[in-house]
Amino acid sequence: MLKDKFWEYKSLAQMTNTEWESLCDGCGRCCLNKLEDEDSGEIYYTNVACHLLDLQSCSCKDYPKRLQRVPACIKIETQTAAQIRELPHSCAYRRLADGKSLPDWHPLVTGIPASVHEAGISVRGRVVSEEYIHPDQLPEHIIIWEPAR
Ligand code: SF4
Ligand code: SF4
Repeated sequence: MLKDKFWEYKSLAQMTNTEWESLCDGCGRCCLNKLEDEDSGEIYYTNVACHLLDLQSCSCKDYPKRLQRVPACIKIETQTAAQIRELPHSCAYRRLADGKSLPDWHPLVTGIPASVHEAGISVRGRVVSEEYIHPDQLPEHIIIWEPAR
């Protein structure tokens, strides 16, 4: 059972596992292949998704075993959330770690799980699976997300 607006008065470290997991809006953005500029260190997102991402629901097809199956999968933990540059600016973990609030489209705010899709934040309908893309083609698939609100 989630307490009302727990994210407004609890730090990330104080949250229960259930609260922690509920922060994920289900956007699927962290499951996209990324490229890093070797000179600047800047991270670029592509529209090429991990083969385990369900492109319709934007959820992982094997969440319990994701870390064994996909070594590059990000394990978000309280103490590292602020340092995970790969997370998009819209991500609740990154936002809260940066001292921001949850956006008005977040499912915890709206009470509607699909609000992340309706707000155009999720990757639904905008990505392809890495099963169909050669790694050498990734630079052609770089995308720039609109600023998070
Ligand atoms: S980017 Fe953040 S909010 Fe979106 S799916 Fe990944 S962990 Fe969840
Ligand atoms: S293994 Fe699952 S959670 Fe990890 S990047 Fe792939 S789809 Fe996302």
